[in-house]
Amino acid sequence: MLSYRHAFHAGNHADVLKHFVLVQLLRHFNQKDKPYWVVDTHAGAGLYDLQSVYASKNAEFSGGIGRLWERKNLPAPLADYVDQVRHFNPDGRLRNYPGSPALALSLMREADRLRLFELHSTDARVLADTLGRAFPGREKHYALRQADGFAELKSVLPPPPRRGFTLMDPAYEDKRDYLRALAAVKEGLARFATGTFALWYPQVQRGDSRQLPEKLKKLPASWLHVSLTVQAPSEDGFGMHGSGLFILNPPWTLASTLKDCLPLLTEALAQDDQARHQLELQETAPAPTRPKKN
Ligand code: SAM
Repeated sequence: MLSYRHAFHAGNHADVLKHFVLVQLLRHFNQKDKPYWVVDTHAGAGLYDLQSVYASKNAEFSGGIGRLWERKNLPAPLADYVDQVRHFNPDGRLRNYPGSPALALSLMREADRLRLFELHSTDARVLADTLGRAFPGREKHYALRQADGFAELKSVLPPPPRRGFTLMDPAYEDKRDYLRALAAVKEGLARFATGTFALWYPQVQRGDSRQLPEKLKKLPASWLHVSLTVQAPSEDGFGMHGSGLFILNPPWTLASTLKDCLPLLTEALAQDDQARHQLELQETAPAPTRPKKN
């Protein structure tokens, strides 16, 4: 049974990193006058009320989007992300936080299409209602299924315009998600070799979380790996101390945008003096390994 509800975590430091990159990907795909598809394999509930009992329980957003909300003189790409969040808070007070489906629909154009998967029955229902209310008349731009995003990714790849990207944002509540994410991205690349795939992962004290990026580096594509640690790992071994995104076939300008913005983002989101970021890039696909001859 799924117990993870993203509403508890909406707008936290991990959402800030993920959604900042998501906005950059959308801006990149919008640059060409050709349609594209976005596939969101783990869509969540779409839009979050930060005053709800869920979001206010630990008020995680106060250590995330809350740290950027009042800040002046942000670098333009970060200001762009914060402006997208402002769009859902027209009176200027931070009350709502858009999830990945809402951010995507806000920036996608008339001919672009969004494909959403959400397994949790309640969140899938909330997502359908929320998008209907927040984006009236946009029904033809998206399709939502209550289904397993790992298994269903292949059903939407390659997208008909042969342009687009996949955001894979599992909850990792089920520890098999690490292996399932790797397998799904590998299969996705086999179907759509030129597609962009962005996989989010948490920095936690599990071997799986450290090994995932290393395994992704071996896939046949160029890649960019960004991580943002907000605090030292806890002594009891529990909890998330940061997060990362591994992007296969990234837009070529993304690394320099991140390089410019990560110092400020790290300083803004730091929870102790162990906060740091890391940016790694491989611009060409690794050479395929040949089977050894005896
Ligand atoms: N991508 C969302 C965003 O950025 O706003 C947040 C997604 S949240 C981290 C992960 C979501 O995946 C949860 O809503 C959970 O119910 C859902 N989920 C868990 N396992 C899934 C699966 N196998 N396929 C699709 N959704 C799943």
